[in-house]
Amino acid sequence: MREDVNEKCAVVGIFGHEEASKLAYFSLHALQHRGQEAAGISSSDGKKLRTIKKRGLVMRVFDEAKLKTLSGSSAIGHTRYSTAGEDSILDAQPVFARYDLGEMAIVHNGNLTNAEEVRNNLIKKGAIFQTFMDTENLIHLIAKSEEEKLTPRIIDAVKKIEGAFSLVFLSRTKMFAMRDRFGFRPLSLGRLPNGGYIVASETCAFDLVSAEFVRDIEPGELLIFKEGREPKSIKIFEPTPKHCIFEYVYFARPDSLVYGQSVYQIRKNMGKELAKIRPVEADLVVPVPDGGVPSAIGYAQESGIPYEMGIMRNHYIGRTFIEPTQEMRDLKVKMKLSPMTDIIKGKKVIVVDDSIVRGTTSRRIIRMLKEAGASEVHMRVSSPPTTDPCYYGVDTPNKDKLIAANMTQDEICKYIEADSLAYLDEKSLLRSVNTKKDNYCTACFTGKYIV
Ligand code: AMP
Repeated sequence: MREDVNEKCAVVGIFGHEEASKLAYFSLHALQHRGQEAAGISSSDGKKLRTIKKRGLVMRVFDEAKLKTLSGSSAIGHTRYSTAGEDSILDAQPVFARYDLGEMAIVHNGNLTNAEEVRNNLIKKGAIFQTFMDTENLIHLIAKSEEEKLTPRIIDAVKKIEGAFSLVFLSRTKMFAMRDRFGFRPLSLGRLPNGGYIVASETCAFDLVSAEFVRDIEPGELLIFKEGREPKSIKIFEPTPKHCIFEYVYFARPDSLVYGQSVYQIRKNMGKELAKIRPVEADLVVPVPDGGVPSAIGYAQESGIPYEMGIMRNHYIGRTFIEPTQEMRDLKVKMKLSPMTDIIKGKKVIVVDDSIVRGTTSRRIIRMLKEAGASEVHMRVSSPPTTDPCYYGVDTPNKDKLIAANMTQDEICKYIEADSLAYLDEKSLLRSVNTKKDNYCTACFTGKYIV
């Protein structure tokens, strides 16, 4: 079995709206940055669930005619992040199944840490799996549960899984939203203008469909939506918040509220902190677009050094991280970013990015800026060195590919050919985040895993 199956994705659920699948479609469109490999929607008209899922971007997977077939007043959707190796359509979500209580569909963001153990137990008892996804375990656990009704079956099932999960379930008449006890991955609740509800990985989806942010689903909370009543909340686990800090560093869209705070403001704070602790004399602060923009603005504001768009991004190319081979990644960086020679030439440049993972992007950008005539290039990174892989749903490569796990900072500086290199430290990162520092998972920077 493949070992690298992770779900780094977006989920959405719409409940109580005539055009639920259309709203799910628009929401997925706003969440496209969380996954570009595949997209899918399941809807329910109260009697039957219908599902469409396919490889590709949300806009490519759906059109007006397809959305019309996804009738009903509730719908859940998913965009899937690329995983190295496999590209089976079976690994797209929602995962749909028929079982003794009828039909259900599930979407999942996160990564289960005991998935293999649970799966092997299920296989021993005769279960047959069609995909490599953790999420399929849940279907089996729900179907096999000895509880009679769906809600207790879901509770039974989620008590058997461990790790990171923000989940949305759809049955013929109900929708369920659930977050693991640590609240690793985000999941927010909003109210639609007609009184219906939306849940989504990020609030930027709410803005597109004119929904009002109500609150986050709490860590360990199950929220049940049923027609004609307010959502019912059940506390399944004692909340122990350990939110993924990388959502703030890179993953979430800056116009979202994540864990109740503006991603944009937090990224700006990170840039300000970086300028305070890692100053350097220079003529310009230049962001690596788009990830480095808010922190570069913060750096420029704090240091008083002018901010310039010294690098242009071609928006018609996907994220560079996505291609599995090194050769493809190198090529995509070149296609994606180009220097503004007039601005850069003869200047001492501070270039700000949100993170260095393998080092490919920084190395290429610094070379490009030097070729464009920059007299000095100082690399500033608005997060600590990424030293450890994520087991909770962010696509970081294995330790042997993480440059900061294998080289000292001086060696990295030489490798990326920068005149200087500095990272934000963990303490300053947590200061940027404003809230209780114990509420965050920083394992990708520290190797201190929670489960
Ligand atoms: P690398 O070239 O491997 O050092 O990747 C660093 C670049 O990838 C930075 O510009 C980041 O904005 C971006 N990045 C960091 N983490 C991820 C991720 N999980 N998925 C996609 N891109 C990422």
